Order: sequence, then structure tokens, then C-alpha cells
Amino acid sequence: MPELPELETIKNSLKSLITGAEIKHIEIKREDVVRLNHYNPEEALERKIVEVGRRGKFLILKLEDNYNIILHLGMSGRFFIVEEGVGLDEPHIHGTFYLDNGKKLIFKDPRRFGGIWFAKDLDNFFVRMGKEPLTEEFTPEYLKKIFKNRKTAVKNLLLDQSLIAGIGNIYADEALFAAGIRPDRKAYSFKDRELEVLCEAVKEVLKRGIEERGTTFRDYRDGYGREGNFQNFLNVYGREGMPCRRCGTGIVRKKIGGRSSFFCPNCQD
Ligand SMILES: [Zn+2]
Repeated sequence: MPELPELETIKNSLKSLITGAEIKHIEIKREDVVRLNHYNPEEALERKIVEVGRRGKFLILKLEDNYNIILHLGMSGRFFIVEEGVGLDEPHIHGTFYLDNGKKLIFKDPRRFGGIWFAKDLDNFFVRMGKEPLTEEFTPEYLKKIFKNRKTAVKNLLLDQSLIAGIGNIYADEALFAAGIRPDRKAYSFKDRELEVLCEAVKEVLKRGIEERGTTFRDYRDGYGREGNFQNFLNVYGREGMPCRRCGTGIVRKKIGGRSSFFCPNCQD
């Protein structure tokens, strides 16, 4: 599933091409991909895209007068740009946004876990979304607050979008490896020093993911259809049985909170 670095990469790849463009026409092939209409999608027409934003794993097209189009890519969705004349003979294209600059934005989502929202009030839309880990609001003190007295595994809290926005399975496992902490460590057991290390590791791993333009296993591509590169730098995720890059011990996979988690039993405790 695309996570914060992948969404940030899509945002960065699209923004210079679509900011300032006006939406001419919207074609929705399957009505059920539209999750919410706070306004009639027709009202988005003839409005300019003033900014391309991101919150957690959501991409936001901010239009004039506080009209927003919000997209989530679910498990395997893609959002990319092509020239208007390009015919796409592909299945699972559920939404097409025609722009006045000769291009069109395509929302493709084979498994349909993603969706499109037409929403006006962004604060309200994201009211239950946790802190952005790459902002100054995300601190060891914040981790201390949300970990306090919690018996759950640290991995589960890192994935909880209402606490921390944008982290999924890949970057959680990689951040925990970087911090030397097992994903099943109980949240209440953390010492202040470990919270500092974890906070820093989360930020570093996400920044590195953005620098490498995301992780492509199967589906993820940026706004031009290009693959990411961070899959070449993963230390634990997807590496069950392979030697730890640091110590050579076999990487272990364990289900935590229903999700596969990968870690080095020697480097992480
Ligand atoms: Zn190791």
C-alpha cells in the first residue's frame, strides 16, 4: 500500500504540471469509487487547481474557493497524468479529470480499496487524523504521551492513522529496525532515550523514502508512471530468511496485529 513517501512523491511529481490548471471535465466510470460528495462534483468544473497537497496517505487537489478533491490509493491504486489525446486501453480506470492544459489525470484502482472524496472543509475531513511525522509537532514527548500505559505493540501504534499519519507496514518496520526496537515491544516499556531514537528513526526513514521517490514492489508508480527506488534500500521489510545487512542473522517475520512484521532478532530488542 502506498504510504507517506509514495504519496509525497506523487504530489511532488504532479504539482508543477497541474497547479494553475483548470478542471474542464470529470468522468467517473464507477460511482462507488466516489466515497463522499460534500458538494456536487460538477461544482469543481472551471475551477483552478491552486495547490496539490498531502495529508497522511491522502492526496489533495485544492481548488479555488475551498473546493477539494481528495484521493486515496488504497492497496494498489494509481494516480497519474497523461496527455489528453492518449487513449488508455487499461482496465480499472475509474476516474478521469480533464484539465485545460491538454492533460488528464487518471485514477486507477484495480482492488477498489481507494476512493475519491469531494469535500469542502479539510479540517473537518481530517479531524481524526494523527500528527504528521515530518512536522515539528511529532516529537519524543508526543510519542511518550501516546505510548503511556499502552500494552499494545509499538508497531500497532505506529500504524494507527489517528495517532500518526501516513506510516504503513513498510516504513514502520524499517523505522523500528533503524531504531533497534522490536515491532512487538509493548508501548509502555519505552524509556525516554528510546523514544528519542524512535522519533528520529521515523523521520529519517520517511525522508530517505521520499529522496528515493518511494518503494515499488508491484503497483506503486509516481505521477508520471515511474517506479520508486527505496525497495533497493530496505533492511527488513520483505526480507524474511535473508541475512540482516548489519549482523548477518536471518530476518524474521511475525504477525503483529494481523500484519506481517519483519525484524532482525539480533539487532532489535
Ligand atoms: Zn541484525
